[in-house]
Amino acid sequence: MSNFTNSPLAVLTRLSPNRNSPRNQPITKITIHHTAGNIGLEALGDWLSRPTTQASYNYGISTDGRIGLFVEERNRSWASSSGANDHQAITIGVANNRGAPDWSVSDAAFASLLELCVCICRRNGIVELVYNGTPAGSLTRHNFFSATNCPAPFLQSRFPEIMRRVNEMLAPASTPANIPSQTITPPAAGALYNLHVPLSGFTTAADALANRNPRNTQEAGEYFVFNTSGQAVNITNVKGRAGSWINGALNVSPVPATPTPPTSPENAALTGVADWAADAWLWAMEALQMDGTRPTAQITRQEVMTLLHRLFNLLNR
Ligand SMILES: [Zn+2]
Repeated sequence: MSNFTNSPLAVLTRLSPNRNSPRNQPITKITIHHTAGNIGLEALGDWLSRPTTQASYNYGISTDGRIGLFVEERNRSWASSSGANDHQAITIGVANNRGAPDWSVSDAAFASLLELCVCICRRNGIVELVYNGTPAGSLTRHNFFSATNCPAPFLQSRFPEIMRRVNEMLAPASTPANIPSQTITPPAAGALYNLHVPLSGFTTAADALANRNPRNTQEAGEYFVFNTSGQAVNITNVKGRAGSWINGALNVSPVPATPTPPTSPENAALTGVADWAADAWLWAMEALQMDGTRPTAQITRQEVMTLLHRLFNLLNR
């Protein structure tokens, strides 16, 4: 099994005997709980470290936003009334700053929760959180597995927001996660450069990377490389003369990489797609070069813009 680590965000470690060691599955999920009270971090650690408590979380977060480690990530916590879930999940108990009916949590605790989720995903290779209202997603709820109100109305209503904000923090700024991308190696000065899609041209490499002060549009076509700086490329029609800077990371080929042939492409393409959406889904894969994955995932702003851009080019071809 992979090398397990613990979050450096934890400021308190109080290990609970209420656990299975080691977990029997890799970490692929996060389960967020509320603690059903405004319990301080030390008190929570004390309570979970008593054998009679017979329960635990991997991490706890108090109303002041501090994070405690109570069960190391390599071990399974006793949190969600489901061994299957908890062997795969990092469980987090978040203290409530108010009680029934909403059981809200503080802004500080919520901010720490987002940071901790990002930290867990990064260290364990979870590329995105998926909350789809079922235990099959990677963001799961206690009340999937038992008759409890945990994570309670306040946190539960924010699960879509948690998924979106964590995924935004996980996604590299320049690579839309849903769209085929290529590994960019810096081209050499004087080399031919194929611009697959029209991109904004900039005066400086820094502007190109920050998408700041665009000065023109570089149409798709062949150029020469004048210079490069990281992912930024200065492309020119006249070899040896400076042209415009573009963000090379956005120069995504309209031809998606050939996937491993599935046994039935239609079935594979439509896995998880609702019947009423099947026609549009197949059209989008063909016409908009969607990669055909994650049909129920939320879409990011940069993915929306990229799709609109592709549609615009399609209509104006
Ligand atoms: Zn719970």
